[in-house]
Amino acid sequence: MRCPFCGAADTKVIDSRLASEGNQVRRRRECLTCAERFTTFESAELVMPQIVKRDGSREPYDEQKLRAGMLRALEKRPVDTERVEAAIHGIQRKLRASGEREIKADRLGEWVMHELRNLDEVAYIRFASVYRRFQDMHAFREEIEKLEKEPSAEARRKQISLLPDDDPD
Ligand SMILES: [Zn+2]
Repeated sequence: MRCPFCGAADTKVIDSRLASEGNQVRRRRECLTCAERFTTFESAELVMPQIVKRDGSREPYDEQKLRAGMLRALEKRPVDTERVEAAIHGIQRKLRASGEREIKADRLGEWVMHELRNLDEVAYIRFASVYRRFQDMHAFREEIEKLEKEPSAEARRKQISLLPDDDPD
């Protein structure tokens, strides 16, 4: 931290305390060169990666855009808003945890599809058909067949609630 008075690089922390409900640290510093004192407020910076689109252009991650895309797929589907928000938070956690400066839009799309698939299969198919732009009907049919072979998200939930003491081992 450079001294704002003389620009020297070496400053010493003389006091540290939590500020604003513990989200920030307030530090009192002293310049080792000119002996001026100043205060800094530091907080953890949670930077979202840039999204790299298919054409190679970059855009900042946009939560509203992500939500709008998911809600479009979920239109008129019986899914609680809370579960949608939880899915969005899950995706954002992955974005932050990636620690990357940039993430391919395709990878983000896969995460969205994964979440939608757990929420509602119709929404999943809607999103996937737009997102993957299924090149031909064959690819689309394969996706439907894959879904038909696996128990639906709803069936899985019912199974879980029917067998509360079921031991997976
Ligand atoms: Zn100084």
